Amino acid sequence: MKILVINAGSSSLKYQLMDPDTGRVYAKGLCERIGIDGRLTHKVVDENDEAVLKETREIPMPTHSEAIESVLSILVDEKFGVVKSLDEVDAVGHRVLHGGDKFIESCIVDEACKKAIEDCIPLGPLHNPANLKGIIACENAMPGKKQVAVFDTAFHMTMPPKAYRYAIPTKYYEEDHIRRYGFHGTSHRFVSKRAIELMGKPASELKVIVAHLGNGSSLSAVADGKCQDTSMGLSPLAGVPMGTRSGDIDPCIVEFICNKYGMTPSECLNMLNKKSGMLAVSGVSSDFRDLEAGAKEGNDNCALARDMFAYGVRKYIGAYAAALGGLDCLVFTAGVGENDGKMRAQICEGLEFLGIKIDPEKNKKRGEECVISTPDSKVTVWVIPTNEELMIAQDTAELCRK
Ligand code: ADP
Repeated sequence: MKILVINAGSSSLKYQLMDPDTGRVYAKGLCERIGIDGRLTHKVVDENDEAVLKETREIPMPTHSEAIESVLSILVDEKFGVVKSLDEVDAVGHRVLHGGDKFIESCIVDEACKKAIEDCIPLGPLHNPANLKGIIACENAMPGKKQVAVFDTAFHMTMPPKAYRYAIPTKYYEEDHIRRYGFHGTSHRFVSKRAIELMGKPASELKVIVAHLGNGSSLSAVADGKCQDTSMGLSPLAGVPMGTRSGDIDPCIVEFICNKYGMTPSECLNMLNKKSGMLAVSGVSSDFRDLEAGAKEGNDNCALARDMFAYGVRKYIGAYAAALGGLDCLVFTAGVGENDGKMRAQICEGLEFLGIKIDPEKNKKRGEECVISTPDSKVTVWVIPTNEELMIAQDTAELCRK
């Protein structure tokens, strides 16, 4: 089976053509500058996930339709193509940011599904319109091809009300659907499922914390394979401090800044989303590698940014261990979680009382599935590389086979 996985953003669109059963990727790429001019970067990939052919094309992409057309056309290209005809593509899986409280799992795209994605635009104003455009462009380019929507919020829909409600007047929940939704759900689901498999015990016996630490970061608390709590909220701005996002702050700060600097709430939120986090504290970069280099050279602000991140993540681990009433397994994933051993060690510092003991030698490993805790650590600490595209392809295949 071959599934085309699409992740459509407002001005970009990522794609992978892959086998959902083996995880083998045939081709992947990126359309950029949609609505501006348009560039396609396409890679043909071998069994070892190495790019064997690469092609960049400047193609006018006034809308997502031209972007999708360019992707479909290069997939069947004589030189850079990986299929003879689009009939070989069995179905398309789309990453969709916000499913509101309507979607607890992935679903086949039909009129009701599209309407629900549209209804969630107020909750995901930047991403949902783009996700919908990607779906409609595929429908137009490949009429009749099965499509599946996979929601970033769906995995978190098992949270109990005590975790997802905000303590604000009920009408904002009932009429406006203001509650904690959480994001990175596809990654949290993929990684927690894998951790449970690797632990070799029934899901009902395992309490797991997943730390998805990348440019955007979130943690989730999982019991019986189901999400019990997560650090992001109504939007991905909440939780731990991130690359350019502030994470949790006192809401009064928004009013203070708006009043003092004549900013609108939107301008202030833009600052909290794009100019805050590690970038703001370090004054140097949002990239954790740059912060490490800066800290090594004696830049105290870079060291402080990393300290604040480690401290923020450690506090969530403590909170979620308490929320779960214990902990069997802690998993690190995503760019920082998979690659930055120093950060993992810093986060786990002082958590021996919780039964977390990191083995410094094992913790040197990067980007591969491995245990990094000592044999006598009560909590097994894993690094598990995430693969959201594979999860999307697997959901798509499963729903299309039904
Ligand atoms: P996102 O998907 O949220 O954009 P990723 O999960 O790809 O982010 O993570 C990107 C981040 O991972 C980068 O900003 C960088 O800070 C960090 N990262 C990647 N590789 C390394 C590494 N070798 N050491 C430390 N940090 C790394």
